[in-house]
Amino acid sequence: MLESKGKLIIKDKARKSMHGRHPWVFSGAVNAVSEEIVKGDVVDIIDGRGGFFGKAFFNPESQIVARILTFDEIECSLDMIRARLERAIALRKSLPEYDQCTAWRLVYAEADHLPGLLVDYYSGYVHVQFHSAGWEPVKKDIVAMIAELTGCIAIFDGSDPEMRHKEGLYTVNETIYGDEPPDNISVVEFGRKFDVDIKKGQKSGLYLDQKFNHQNILRFATGRKVLDCFSYTGGFALAALDGGCDSLTAIESSDAAVAQLEINVALNRRGSEDVKVITGDAFEILREMADAGERFDMIILDPPAFCKSKTAIVKACRGYKDINRIAMQLLSPNGILVSCS
Ligand code: SAH
Repeated sequence: MLESKGKLIIKDKARKSMHGRHPWVFSGAVNAVSEEIVKGDVVDIIDGRGGFFGKAFFNPESQIVARILTFDEIECSLDMIRARLERAIALRKSLPEYDQCTAWRLVYAEADHLPGLLVDYYSGYVHVQFHSAGWEPVKKDIVAMIAELTGCIAIFDGSDPEMRHKEGLYTVNETIYGDEPPDNISVVEFGRKFDVDIKKGQKSGLYLDQKFNHQNILRFATGRKVLDCFSYTGGFALAALDGGCDSLTAIESSDAAVAQLEINVALNRRGSEDVKVITGDAFEILREMADAGERFDMIILDPPAFCKSKTAIVKACRGYKDINRIAMQLLSPNGILVSCS
């Protein structure tokens, strides 16, 4: 089903990036494509002299015209995909921390040689995202494989509409295997309890890619007055509580996230810590705090991506500079700044 349908010839200048095993071919690197191929097909990537570089999902509607499936001259097949899914899942399960969490990102797209495919596991429920046109013709097979390999109760397709739009794909937001997952799924991250809404939450419900960073701040939070900015449902905030912080102030602009954050704080509170959750714009609130001369011993900044394309670079730099500068003003001597971007 995934056999190659044609050829994509890259410009000479793109050979270096292919030799470097970059997983994408951008539109500017395309010299020509065979006439018969359509969006979602698998194509051979070759250069003008016929040299073979790899096989890829083709999508002329995306700036990422091809997403590499293999750099080897092999036949692509569903068996190959299945083996990759199996390997990705086995890798995550082999992590020494696997048993300490019931929510995991099992498949990391390009990093697992499954371009544009994200699979997140939440206590028996799976949230999946298909961000490449190549998956459309085989989606049913992939869903069956994920169901089998994870033994999950249900699978929800919560693909990012913006990512799909960039690929020229329609928006999906539905249960694609089993009965609809509940609004709240209880998961545990290193002993910390979270209620997660995988259908309406941001990303897949939690920022699972930050899991180890959450855990890393725990040991630094002990006895500190912590300020967690851009809290979402408390990935860092709950770790600070877990680490025995002296007080916790969390700032988050989304009402839905704040409601969930408050539930999660209540689920994990040990006792008398002073916890304050503020709904609002972190930029404004930090400025007010700085003007009022407030100080914190640990400040965590985990803002949304300010820069998703080249055109946003200048504004994004200003945003990152502002937020970090104000946070530094708010830091007490020997304080710790945790800055994510
Ligand atoms: N730290 C969280 C993830 C943060 S994602 C975790 O690890 O779980 C970024 C968050 O910032 C989102 O929840 C978003 O709603 C919030 N946000 C976006 N702009 C904001 C602003 N100006 N002020 C405060 N929060 C903001």
